[in-house]
Amino acid sequence: MKILVVNAGSSSLKYQLIDMETEKVLAKGGCERIGIPGSLLKAKGNGGEKIYTEDMPDHKKAIRLVLDALLDKDIGVIKSMDEIDAVGHRVVASGEYFKKTTLVDENVIKTLEEKTFELAPLHNPAAATGLRACMDVMPNTPMTLVFDTSFHATMPEKAYMYGIDYNDYKEYGVRKYGAHGTSHKFVSSEAAKYLNKNIEDLKIVTCHLGNGSSITAVDGGKCVDTSMGFTPLAGVLMGTRSGDIDASAVEFLARKKGLSHTDAVTYLNKKCGVAGISGLSSDFRDLCSGMENGNERCALALDMFAYQVKRFVGAYAAVMGGLDCIVFTAGIGENTPTVREDVCTGLEFLGVEFDSKANLAINDGSIREISKPGSKVKVLIIPTNEELVIARETAELL
Ligand code: ADP
Repeated sequence: MKILVVNAGSSSLKYQLIDMETEKVLAKGGCERIGIPGSLLKAKGNGGEKIYTEDMPDHKKAIRLVLDALLDKDIGVIKSMDEIDAVGHRVVASGEYFKKTTLVDENVIKTLEEKTFELAPLHNPAAATGLRACMDVMPNTPMTLVFDTSFHATMPEKAYMYGIDYNDYKEYGVRKYGAHGTSHKFVSSEAAKYLNKNIEDLKIVTCHLGNGSSITAVDGGKCVDTSMGFTPLAGVLMGTRSGDIDASAVEFLARKKGLSHTDAVTYLNKKCGVAGISGLSSDFRDLCSGMENGNERCALALDMFAYQVKRFVGAYAAVMGGLDCIVFTAGIGENTPTVREDVCTGLEFLGVEFDSKANLAINDGSIREISKPGSKVKVLIIPTNEELVIARETAELL
């Protein structure tokens, strides 16, 4: 079985074709600048790479070009479109409308378009556009929606509710939904496999640390709490996002800076986080070199980040009543040793014996154990693979 995984943005479309027997990526690539002059498709396939510079006025043209690349005489990996058994589409937000991976029909599209757009105004309309384009070009191929929020659907009410008027929660669906669910699901199940344990017996804190960062408490394989909220603005400070902040401080700042509600939220999403603190960059590589060169604001940004991640680790150990494993994943989690060291230092009281030397080993893309042998709490670096989860969920549903 071959599954095409599609991740559509407003002007981009990334894809992977995965062979489910071997779970190998047969081909992958991405379209950039859809609907903007200078469209580009970079496609990798059978031992080679090809760049398509044809105009892509819309997502339909983009998906047509992706199929051309998959069928290409040089880098193609399939002989006919019929070899694609299904397409799994990544969707950022489901609200309370979808609790799990869903097979697409007209009703599903209607709910996606009519109910969820306002929950993720940048992402969900793009996913729907990508979906409709695929359905036009591949009308006989089953499609699924795989939501970033699904893994968090098991959170208990006490974890996902905000302390607002209950009627407003009911009326408007304002509650915590979380994000990066496919990643948290993947790395927690990989951790159980690596440790040779039943996931039902494990209490894991998964730290997905990238441009967007979220921390999740996974008890017995189920999410019981997560740091992101109604939107991905909540939790720890991130590349350019503030993370948690007193709502009154937002109103105060908006008044002082003369910002509308919408502009204030844009400010919190785009101008804050480690970029705002350092005044230099949202990229942790820049922050690390800044700190090494004595830049105090880079050092503060890194310090705040690790502190806030640690605070969630401690809180989630308390919530689960114990801790067996901490997992680091995504760009920063997989590549930034100083963050991992700062998060884990001082957690000896929980049973974490951190191995500073193992922590410095080069990232070779494999699972790495960075706690000392015999540490009660295992600390692992696990490369995430969200596309594989989308493909697996799609295959399972079929
Ligand atoms: P997202 O998928 O949320 O855009 P990533 O998971 O790619 O983000 O993470 C990006 C972050 O990872 C950046 O801050 C970057 O500095 C950091 N990072 C550190 N080292 C590396 C590396 N070797 N490769 C990629 N990202 C890295």
